[in-house]
Parts: sequence; C-alpha cells; structure tokens
Amino acid sequence: METTSEPWGITPSGERVKLFTLSDEITVKISNYGGTIVSIQAPDRSGRMGEVTLGFNTVDGYINSDFYLGATIGRYANRIANGEFYIDGEAYKLAQNNGPNHLHGGIKGYDKVVWDAELLESGLRLSYRSTDMEEGYPGTLEASITFTLREDRLEVDYLAVTDNPTVVNLTNHAYFNLAGGGSVLRHRLWIDSDRYSPVGENMIPLGKHDVVEGTPFDFREATEVGGRINDGHVQLERGGGYDHNYVLNQISNPQIRVTEPESGRTLEVSTTMPGVQFYTGNFLDGSDKGRNGPINRRSGLCLETQFFPDSPNQPDFPSTILRPCEKYIEKTVYRFTTES
Ligand code: BGC
Repeated sequence: METTSEPWGITPSGERVKLFTLSDEITVKISNYGGTIVSIQAPDRSGRMGEVTLGFNTVDGYINSDFYLGATIGRYANRIANGEFYIDGEAYKLAQNNGPNHLHGGIKGYDKVVWDAELLESGLRLSYRSTDMEEGYPGTLEASITFTLREDRLEVDYLAVTDNPTVVNLTNHAYFNLAGGGSVLRHRLWIDSDRYSPVGENMIPLGKHDVVEGTPFDFREATEVGGRINDGHVQLERGGGYDHNYVLNQISNPQIRVTEPESGRTLEVSTTMPGVQFYTGNFLDGSDKGRNGPINRRSGLCLETQFFPDSPNQPDFPSTILRPCEKYIEKTVYRFTTES
C-alpha cells in the first residue's frame, strides 16, 4: 500500500487543493476539494487496470460541475422537502436548490468546500468543521472521513460530532461505470432489499416503503440495470429512471453487487447505513466534459449509502438527528473483484 500527494490547483477563493493517490490492488485518487473520489482504477478479469468512475482531470471540472461527481455529500445527503425541518419544535430553513427542495447540503455543500487532509499509513483522513447555521443547519459539526485502502477494498469511515442538535446524513456520490465508458444499462445489479421508497412528483418519499416484488425495482436476483428501465412504471417515469432509496435488509454482507459482463469487473458494497440511493445518472446531459469527453445520460450509476431522504420530515423513518452527547459513526466499503 502506497500513498502520495500532489498539488492540484487553487479554488477561486484562493484555497490550495491537493490530489492524493492510494495504491494497492486498486488505485484510488481522492481530492480534498469536496472530499472527492476523483478516480478508481481496478483490474478486469485478465488483470488489465481500467477506470471505473466518472470524473475530471482537473479541479476546475469539479468546481464547475453541478452533478456531484465522486463528492462527499453533507450535511444532509439527498432531499429535504421544501428546505425545512424542525428539531425540538424549532424551525430551520435551508436553501431550496432543487425545485422546492433542499438537495445534497445546499448551495455550498460539503462537495464544494476544501477539507483538511492528513495522510495516514494506509489511507487519508479528511476533516471539515461546518459552523453553526452554515447553509442553514444548526450546530457546529466536526466531520471526518477516513479513506482506507486494503488490497481490493476502499473503506470509507464517517465520523461526526456536534455542539447542538442537528441533522446529519453523509454519503459519497461516486458514479461507477465498470466498463470505463459507454452506458451502464448492461451492468448487472443485485441489491439485498425487499422494499424501496416510492416518491411523489417532487422526488420526496411518500412515507411508506413499497415491496419490490413484481416491480422493476426488484434486484434480489442479479438483473440488468436497463432491462426494465423503460417499463413505464410510474416511479421510473418520475425519476427519469432509477433514482430511489432502497431499504437494505441488512442481513448479508455485501448488500449490493454490480457486475459488468464484458470486463468481469465487479463492485461489492457493504454498509452500516440503512439505505442506498440507486441512481442511474438520469440527469447527466453531456454538458460536463469529463476525462473521456461529454458525461452523458446514464453513463454512470450511483450507489449512495445513506439514511433515508427527507428523514427530518418523516416520522416513520429512522431518525437522523444528532445530539451533542452522540457520535455519528457509519462505514461503507467498496470492494472491486472480478467475475469469470
Ligand atoms: C439524486 C438525484 C440527483 C443527483 C444529483 C442523486 O443523489 O437522487 O435526484 O439529481 O443526486 O447528481
């Protein structure tokens, strides 16, 4: 396992940004701009290394993009309805940066800030302190994300503490394409989940989880991502494809597996979190120019491990409130293997 660091440009406000490389059986590049996974190279079934995430060659690509490529998302991943919520009877108002909703931490979320970085023997720790009322969230939140590389696994450890009650939901927004290019519709996906969270017209969960059985949302057996995406299911129309929270059964490990049949590359995801946002890159529109050219619709898929969207307004969902006496501790592991 080796780690290196190099200068990687300056933000418009003059902050210096670095790019870190962690190498073992896979090679992972991470920037402290946005806590971003910039690149992951993994072997195919014949041992040939190839890129498996969407991204840019320069930090400017990330600064100018609205698609959260590879970024750390916080303070609250995914949507909060109408950008408002209550804690202990107190109302809080957030930016409405996605129609009427608040999305992915606001206008300057964790994806657009520069994190402090510390190289470790087997990885990298990024830390960010967001002040009380930053982007409208109460409480000063000290967050750290530790990326550890062990052989074929990238482990991501999330830790956060607050000095006042707040809401927290951290994730990573990597778009995977195990073929290194083209569409992800031929990837095969397995998710150990019996239920998903249907959404209303504004993409906010309706509050009850539906069974996947008998619907295009059933990935309890490995199935092609694109096989049923145009079935005309009302939920797929709403999201322009898959863009939904799955309630993980949390009885197997890993809980998610994606395979790309041509290369054999396989990604396994394990997490402590209760859900995952399976998103087929429906809003990507070719306007971002990535390392291999335009980043087109459905050229990457996201598996954003998370607490459920809009939990602060959903009494039946697990709570995402963090109080000063508590610690937010979560972990997600990405393992890259191959299938013959
Ligand atoms: C959301 C999508 C959103 C995308 C932004 C995903 O987590 O579920 O609706 O458009 O992030 O890139």
